[in-house]
Amino acid sequence: MNPQEILEIETIYSAGTYAKQPLVIVRGQGASLFDADGVEYLDCASGHGVANLGHAHPKVAEAIYRQACTLITLFETFPNDKRAELIKKITSLVNGLDKVFLCNSGTESVEAALKFARISTGRRNIVAAMRAFHGRTYGSLSATFNKKYREGFEPLVPGFSHVAYNNIEVLDKAVNEKTAAVILEVIQGEGGVHPASAEYIQAARRICDERGALLIVDEIQSGFGRTGKMFAIQHFGVTPDLLTCAKSLAGGVPMGAVLIGHNVKNLTPGVHSSTFGGNPLSCAAAVAALGVMEEEDLPRQALVKGAYLMDKLKRIELPIVREVRGMGLMVGIQLKQKVAPYIKALQDKRIIALNAGMTVIRLLPPLVISYAQIDHLVDVLTEVLAVELASVEI
Ligand SMILES: *Cc1c(COP(=O)(O)O)cnc(C)c1O
Repeated sequence: MNPQEILEIETIYSAGTYAKQPLVIVRGQGASLFDADGVEYLDCASGHGVANLGHAHPKVAEAIYRQACTLITLFETFPNDKRAELIKKITSLVNGLDKVFLCNSGTESVEAALKFARISTGRRNIVAAMRAFHGRTYGSLSATFNKKYREGFEPLVPGFSHVAYNNIEVLDKAVNEKTAAVILEVIQGEGGVHPASAEYIQAARRICDERGALLIVDEIQSGFGRTGKMFAIQHFGVTPDLLTCAKSLAGGVPMGAVLIGHNVKNLTPGVHSSTFGGNPLSCAAAVAALGVMEEEDLPRQALVKGAYLMDKLKRIELPIVREVRGMGLMVGIQLKQKVAPYIKALQDKRIIALNAGMTVIRLLPPLVISYAQIDHLVDVLTEVLAVELASVEI
């Protein structure tokens, strides 16, 4: 099949829920993606933060191959060597989060955390933040703020409210004896790359403790080294009760997880389950991926490369740039106008970047991106942002 045929098939026969790019990608290596003609693109999206290890990491590939030849599927009622290995490893990542529930995606980990919060506290209300993104299924969609995602799907799950992010006062007013949980991103991704302040996350912990509510942090995008620590909340010395993760957990293989603290109660057999959750194939991939994160010290790579990138970006003094912000290699460039034409211009110059809302360019490169690639990224960004481009709709 040639690229034109591939694009046509996907455009005509896919459900229609994605705006397809006119760019067929067939291969990846490190921070690079390649089209059907072998043309190289610098991946600054990582599949929305999935490919932290880079594409086609040989250790992950080998683990998947070996496990596929051994055992792919096994329901969680039967213990398994690879699953036990993963469970042991993942529950050692955050002090105080000593249990884990395994599932298959980000939204599923949020669904599980919300259910665990209700069954644990016997309360029904969930307080989330404005601009929050937690996923697209009904529970997580109810915690998601943007009406673009919610409209047309009502009624959503009752009991959810949204308060301004990074505002301690409104959070303090919103949480009461009926609140099961507060759910927050430590740095909002889809919502525009907005980091929380340390004071805000610390206050959220204190408010939840005072009112007997649980604190859920959603680290699906910010987790696994992305911000310069294994999890972003570790910058702030706070332990949540439930931590949701997915995206880069298994090196690109679909997998989600909820890390669970001591305050979470009533998790007994039958309370929740997933057919694919904890399957040996994903577990083997995740064990390999976590091993690579450790061996290659990916959190540290994100920290130093993020600082390097941020420093260079802050020196681009162009009138169109309103602000550059982020944590580690999770970076947002807020423009004074819509970003869609700039993202297209970057793609024409073989750099794949993301938007975060209408006016923010989001950069989520693989953490293995080289300094030469970062320099190239900044050069191309500088060139593209210097040109006034007509505003078009995303
Ligand atoms: C991507 C994301 C989700 C949803 O994950 P899916 O795997 O797409 O369901 C939820 N929360 C955050 C913060 C995310 O970035």
